[in-house]
Amino acid sequence: MFDFRSYAAAASVEDAVRLLAEKPNAVIMAGGSDVLIKMRSRDMSQVDVVSIYGLDELRGIRLEPNGDIRIGSLTSFSHIEHDETVNRLIPVLSQAAGTVGGPQIRNIGTIGGNTCNGVTSADTASTCFALDAIIELTGSEGVRHVPIVGFYLRAGKVDIRPTEIQTAVIIPRDSYENCFGHYQKYAMRNAMDIATLNCSVNVRLNADGAIERARIAYGVAGPVPMRAGSAEAAVCGMPAGEDAAHIFADAAIRDINPRDSWRASKAFRIHIAHELAVRGLTESMRRAGATI
Ligand SMILES: Cc1cc2nc3c(=O)[nH]c(=O)nc-3n(C[C@H](O)[C@H](O)[C@H](O)COP(=O)(O)OP(=O)(O)OC[C@H]3O[C@@H](n4cnc5c(N)ncnc54)[C@H](O)[C@@H]3O)c2cc1C
Repeated sequence: MFDFRSYAAAASVEDAVRLLAEKPNAVIMAGGSDVLIKMRSRDMSQVDVVSIYGLDELRGIRLEPNGDIRIGSLTSFSHIEHDETVNRLIPVLSQAAGTVGGPQIRNIGTIGGNTCNGVTSADTASTCFALDAIIELTGSEGVRHVPIVGFYLRAGKVDIRPTEIQTAVIIPRDSYENCFGHYQKYAMRNAMDIATLNCSVNVRLNADGAIERARIAYGVAGPVPMRAGSAEAAVCGMPAGEDAAHIFADAAIRDINPRDSWRASKAFRIHIAHELAVRGLTESMRRAGATI
């Protein structure tokens, strides 16, 4: 039923690195919600599998002494959705994790798998982009930290070197402190659907109620998740309000390059991207205390 050649369960991160060094073409498996589907449909066949799912050291969320939030790569969507630290400091990530698949997928699927599969529609990826997440990778050469924007190389391809596994997703303190965000997934139905487009926004207002900093990232607006830098620059220093939301959205759609697919046309995705930017910034500003 599942077409694989060999299966090894790593006993530790070091063991995983050793197993990957022994079998350089092995497929890493975390929750398996992408990998097992491919093996069953024979999109992947006769592969060597290295499972890291048993590595509890890669599970859980920790607030570091410097204020960074460390999310172990095997942390499930359900865990992220309900985690106290996430809900207190970065509730926008809880919102994103809560939109993935159905309950079973949220229990088995991991943030590591969601960011390592390189897929543009991945629900947590755009929020990780908007929060300037740092990807931690561990391999035979040691530990590397890569900004998420550089981690995605092209559709389906991320910067993981042979023998490396992703060990954590780190949300730096400066990227979330005093920021308020909103995640939106546009899909054809509410449950168990892949995003036609998704959009994560966060904003920090200054003491005068002006926008000190706004961030926006999309999924399915290009081959990989992406930020819309023109939108972020356009509203910097503007008073929070409706005008800012519209200027933000007008600039955002200049940065994106969605495609036509069976799910939606390019024109429709651009239309949705504009609307989600307006709503995303408006709701983020409200959450930050602005009256709009
Ligand atoms: C029915 C169904 C519904 C779904 N709905 C959604 C949805 O709504 N939104 C969404 O975003 N996704 C959805 N998915 C896709 C999938 O559940 C997610 O992408 C999930 O995050 C994958 O995590 P996983 O742990 O199961 O990854 P796996 O399947 O184990 O791995 C996925 C990929 O990442 C690599 N990988 C995983 N972990 C690591 C690591 N720590 N280090 C290095 N490489 C690693 C694997 O080698 C593989 O290439 C759905 C899947 C199914 C089957």
